[in-house]
This record gives sequence, structure tokens and C-alpha cells, in this order.
Amino acid sequence: TRVLGIEGTAWAASAAVYDSGRDGVDSVFIETDAYEPDSGGIHPREAAEHMHDAIPRVVERALEHARETRDGDDERSSPVDAVAFSRGPGLGPCLRVVATAARALSQTLDVPLVGVNHMVAHLEIGRHASGFDSPVCLNASGANAHLLAYRNGRYRVLGETMDTGVGNAIDKFTRHVGWSHPGGPKVEATAEDGEYVDLPYVVKGMDFSFSGIMSAAKQAYDDGVPVEDVCYSLQENVFAMLTEVSERALSLTGSDELVLGGGVGQNARLREMLAAMCDQRAASFHAPEPRFLRDNAGMIAVLGAKMYDAGDTLALEDSRVDPNYRPDQVPVRWRSDEGN
Ligand code: ATP
Repeated sequence: TRVLGIEGTAWAASAAVYDSGRDGVDSVFIETDAYEPDSGGIHPREAAEHMHDAIPRVVERALEHARETRDGDDERSSPVDAVAFSRGPGLGPCLRVVATAARALSQTLDVPLVGVNHMVAHLEIGRHASGFDSPVCLNASGANAHLLAYRNGRYRVLGETMDTGVGNAIDKFTRHVGWSHPGGPKVEATAEDGEYVDLPYVVKGMDFSFSGIMSAAKQAYDDGVPVEDVCYSLQENVFAMLTEVSERALSLTGSDELVLGGGVGQNARLREMLAAMCDQRAASFHAPEPRFLRDNAGMIAVLGAKMYDAGDTLALEDSRVDPNYRPDQVPVRWRSDEGN
């Protein structure tokens, strides 16, 4: 199976071709054009304009790759079996540009359309890459933060942020300090020279909150606490909160597999804490390679192929986007253990 995936929920205008290959050797080609705001965070209208400019370019590059690498010499047939796109969650204006492109391509190439939930794609790429059977997934991305696990045909949200996503929370702090977007990598680098200062730590059962810790971090910075110390403590607390809830999710589900998803998953300290926690309870931990953690069309193409193989395609008239598309709204038809 070969699927063209298109992603554009926020900042990454991305297209990919997933080829499930022969003899179990698959491949993913990804072309991404990132939107970089001149100042502040992501402006939805500017991001949508970026999608408008960049999506045709990245799609053309991906299709070129698909044509170059296809088997046989039938130049008239479509180089892919389906077009998959991210339907949500994400910024409405961006999603609409991507969906319009996907519908047009599915018609021109005369192949089915597959609508993918972006958060389920963050999870499935980890399951795909790790070979784990039924892992708990910690999605630590820009606009989201939650724990997912499969039960009775759906991915259930076991715990989540009660306010902002984890990446957005970190980015709000760095905007306050005057650093350019995205802030996560800058906090990670700066934290290396820091020492611990007290900041709030808020976990309530399976849910957690970042707003108090972010206000306290901004205040500490304004009060003259060295920025290295604030960055270090911010990372320690935020990641310990995520690790604590991940552990509770493993315990609750009885699973001994954890996968990581989302752009914040590129952070070495977060991975270190999760790996140590899994180690202590003899669970396996997998963090996908960075190109699959941050937003990318590769994960859309991979899940798109699984959905296509399961017959889970969309009619054009049912293909509207959903900026608030939750992972537990998706009937999971592509898993062989469906119904368990
Ligand atoms: P979503 O997937 O929820 O729609 P998103 O589209 O904003 O989120 P992602 O690509 O998953 O994006 O993640 C981007 C976020 O990851 C940004 O907030 C960025 O600051 C953060 N990030 C990137 N690298 C690091 C890092 N090394 N440490 C911490 N955070 C990071």
C-alpha cells in the first residue's frame, strides 16, 4: 500500500509518502515546510497563508518521489492508493486549506480520501515504530498533553491537561522572556546550567495543570531569579508531572509499554525521566525518531495506510474538518484486536 499524507494542523506544511513495501520493509518520505512567526506565537491567519503557499510545493515534491519510486512502468496509473489528511484537531483556517488540497488530489488522482485524527496519528506512529502491541501513549505536543490507551474499539483519554498544551505553556514562558518561537529547544539548552528553585507542581488524579507553574515561572524571572534556574526547574516540574501521570496510566491499564508522541517528546530530559520510570517498573519505553515526533505528514500517511487497508475511507461530502476532533471520537477499525 502507498499513501500520500498531508499535514497542516498548525505550523508544519508537510506531505509524505508511506510505502508499506515488500518483505516487511517499509519506507516513509517526508517533505516539510515550517511556518516561523516573525514575532510572538503562531498567528492562525498567517499560518493558514503559509499552508496556502507551501502545501502545493511539499505535495508536488512527495508525488515526484512517489512517481520516481513506483514499481512497473504504468505512467497513467496513480502513484499512490489513497490521499490521507489531518482533519483535526488544529487551527480551523489551516485545516481547511489542507482538506481542500486533499479533496482536489483525491479527485485528480482518482483514489479514495482518508481523514486522520492528528492525535491518534501521534500515537500510532509510536506503536508502528516500536512494534508494541497495546501501549499507553503520552502525547506531549504543542497544543495538547494527554495520555491515551486503547479499550473497546477506541483510544480513551485517561488523563489530560486542564488548561494549555505542554509545548504552548513552555512557549508562553519564552515569549515572556523575549525568545523567538518555538521556545522548547531554548528552554532545554538553557536548563543545562540551572539549579532547582521551587515552582508549583499540579497533578489532580489523572489530570494536570500548567497555568500556575507558568505564571510562577514568569514571576520568578521578573523577580530576578537566573533564567537558567527557571528553565531547569520548569523542565523538572513539568516533566515530572507528565512522568507521574504516565506511570499511573501504566498501572491503571496493566500495560507494560509506553510510547511518546508530540514535539515536546524531542526533549532529552523528558525522555530520560520516562525511560527511568519505565525501567523501574520493568516496562518498555519507545520514543520515535524526532522527525516522527514533531508535526509531520509521515504519521498521517502511516495511519492513513492502516485506515485505507481497513476500508476506512471518506466520501467527499463527509470530509469536513474538525478543529476540536478528540481522539476518542475515532472508531478504531484498523487494529486486529478491535473490540477487546
Ligand atoms: P499539536 O500536535 O498538539 O497540534 P503542535 O502542532 O503545536 O501541537 P508539535 O510539533 O507536536 O506541535 O510540537 C511543537 C511544540 O514542541 C512547540 O511548543 C515547541 O516549543 C515544542 N518543542 C520542540 N522541541 C522541544 C524540546 N527540545 N523541548 C521541549 N519542547 C520542545
